Amino acid sequence: MRILVTNDDGYLAEGLRTLVEAVRPLGEVRVVAPDRERSATSHSLTLHNPLRVKARGEGIQAVDGTPTDCVILALGMLLGDRPDVVLSGINHGQNLGDDVLYSGTVAAAMEATILGVPGVAISLVGAAELHMTAWGPVVARLLEQLLPRELPKDTLLNINLPPIAPSEVKGVRVTTLGRREYLGSIVRGEDPNGREYFWIGGGESRWWGGPDSDFRAIHEGYVSVTPLHLDLTNYTLREELARWDLTL
Ligand code: MN
Repeated sequence: MRILVTNDDGYLAEGLRTLVEAVRPLGEVRVVAPDRERSATSHSLTLHNPLRVKARGEGIQAVDGTPTDCVILALGMLLGDRPDVVLSGINHGQNLGDDVLYSGTVAAAMEATILGVPGVAISLVGAAELHMTAWGPVVARLLEQLLPRELPKDTLLNINLPPIAPSEVKGVRVTTLGRREYLGSIVRGEDPNGREYFWIGGGESRWWGGPDSDFRAIHEGYVSVTPLHLDLTNYTLREELARWDLTL
């Protein structure tokens, strides 16, 4: 099996190294990843600058672009043969519920799916980096079961690992995306020159979701596996909209 590993934390991230080591026994592993942290870049694409690729060790290439750029370059140019799967992660931090809309980690797996290669995004919840390397073998066992299966068209998998030692994990749950809102996540301040600035991020957040949601699985100490689909169409509303008889 040919495996492409990428991420949005940069090729030096411990999560990526952990994933590479974990899946090495499963096949031939290549890395094409951003040369620096590119978290929360979502599905952005670099169109107005040239991209540079640098070899950074055996089978490792670093790109001065986004995770999506990396997947496009890898599949379209850098890898000789198309990979059988694109793994993105292990992200340092959760990608639960609404996070998937902002996540560079998920976007990389999504881009692979768009290009016809199965994609799996993997994230470790919380700042529990002390557990990162310990999760490697568990992730490998999970992927060994998932990768031989065929994913339906336009579908990717979003895996989240709970912020605990893998020896304490309760099992795996197949989940739906929950929802989350951030409270007080915009900070207004003044820089040393007296100019006003705004800073998005941080603050409290609150999640909700059904018993089968990804948030609940993580909260209760399970690994969460959510199948995601590229088609965002709201089919129910489409039927109703069609009855509105819109005219020009
Ligand atoms: Mn990240």
